[in-house]
Amino acid sequence: MERKNIWESCSKKQLSEIESFAQEYRAFLDQGKTERECIKTTLERLDAAGYRDLDKLIGKKGTLKTGDKVYRVWMNKTVIAFNLGSAPLEAGLNILGAHIDSPRLDIKQNPLYEEDGLAYLDTHYYGGVKKYQWVAIPLALHGVVVKKDGSVVEINIGEAADDPVFFVSDLLPHLAAEQMEKKANKVIEGEALDIIVGNRPLVLDKGSAKKDDGDPAKNAIKNNILDILKNSHGIAEEDFISAELEVVPAGCAREAGLDRSMVLAYGQDDRVCAYTGLAALLACKKPKRTACLILADKEEIGSVGATGMHSRFVENTLAELLNLAGSYSELTLRRALAASAMLSIDVGAAYDPFYKSSFEKRNAAMLGGGVLLEKYGGHRGKSGSNDANAEYLAYLRHIFEAAGIRFQTAEHGKVDVGGGGTIAYILAAYGMDVVDCGVPLLNMHAPWEAASKADIYEAKRAYAAFLAGVK
Ligand code: MN
Ligand code: MN
Repeated sequence: MERKNIWESCSKKQLSEIESFAQEYRAFLDQGKTERECIKTTLERLDAAGYRDLDKLIGKKGTLKTGDKVYRVWMNKTVIAFNLGSAPLEAGLNILGAHIDSPRLDIKQNPLYEEDGLAYLDTHYYGGVKKYQWVAIPLALHGVVVKKDGSVVEINIGEAADDPVFFVSDLLPHLAAEQMEKKANKVIEGEALDIIVGNRPLVLDKGSAKKDDGDPAKNAIKNNILDILKNSHGIAEEDFISAELEVVPAGCAREAGLDRSMVLAYGQDDRVCAYTGLAALLACKKPKRTACLILADKEEIGSVGATGMHSRFVENTLAELLNLAGSYSELTLRRALAASAMLSIDVGAAYDPFYKSSFEKRNAAMLGGGVLLEKYGGHRGKSGSNDANAEYLAYLRHIFEAAGIRFQTAEHGKVDVGGGGTIAYILAAYGMDVVDCGVPLLNMHAPWEAASKADIYEAKRAYAAFLAGVK
């Protein structure tokens, strides 16, 4: 089967929709560079579309019926939204599931230190990164500091044009002969990813209280940083204990290429599917089967924890939904889960002509080749993969072809060169049909990842067609 560049087959109307959709998408990326920020901007869109908070409805002992739209947030880092269909929940849902966490550098709990004239924040990287990519680029600090009284201080430094940024230093090439002999995974080690936050000592007025045992020179640069944090955000050093601060590449999502055919941005894995999934849900009118969107956290570190896909959040929320719809029982819950169909909407590797040997071209996704369907991932003989059913793929072919969706099938790379996983296998454990379906990316997991505007648009169309489908 030939793989075509789908730009060639776009109508004039589609071409203009591709552009406007990519613009809205870039705004979403800029508004949400962490899970929490992503939830916030998602809720604004859900609220505006008439979605209601399920927890408030539970508190009021309300009821739910066909046509109602609700969402539920867990710990400000994961969300699930429903548009209730005309068919009973027991008949199953159409579920889109993406993740909104991305690789980054997290700030440690005791992070601030000074060494030889520079102040640093110590970091622990999150997810699979090539560490050498994170040095010598402008970085921003996003997140929350929760004080002992429970008040939350939001941090966002490094995005505005006049904000300061941060960086990890690297050795100049003139002195790097020894470094350049090292393997790529040793060139920059995990503990060498601390960000530089200052170089200017605190100058004390004469007679004012001296810090650090009376020696004003000791930790003067660190003390200056603490002074700045106290004045700008009301934060003390101990407050880092109860903070979640993420270091991400600074700057906005950009158009890429002279033809502006691509988007280059941080965190497109997997916010490109989060956004296209959200857009599909918002466009979904009067579905037969209940339409559902999950935006999960912690995928990049194994879908663990209370906000990861392995938690009972989805199951518990569906139980609440059934209860408000007047049909809860243990059996209806299990039936609803087993009868559901899911697209695990996550990115895949786009074929890169510079790294041909890592791909098998006939079964690789082309940038601009349309939304990708990945029957299985895994590694070493499909190990750990959700290998979707042929019957389910036949159903999706039918749905996609009826809606004129341009899709391509793909594997993650050549057999035995590596592999990867998504959230697909987790909900498949309930017995539902699940397959990976997403947008191909170049330089996935790099500080700046590239996607085709045409693929982004096609993903949204594919997800919309899926939500409207009846299995
Ligand atoms: Mn992903
Ligand atoms: Mn990933």
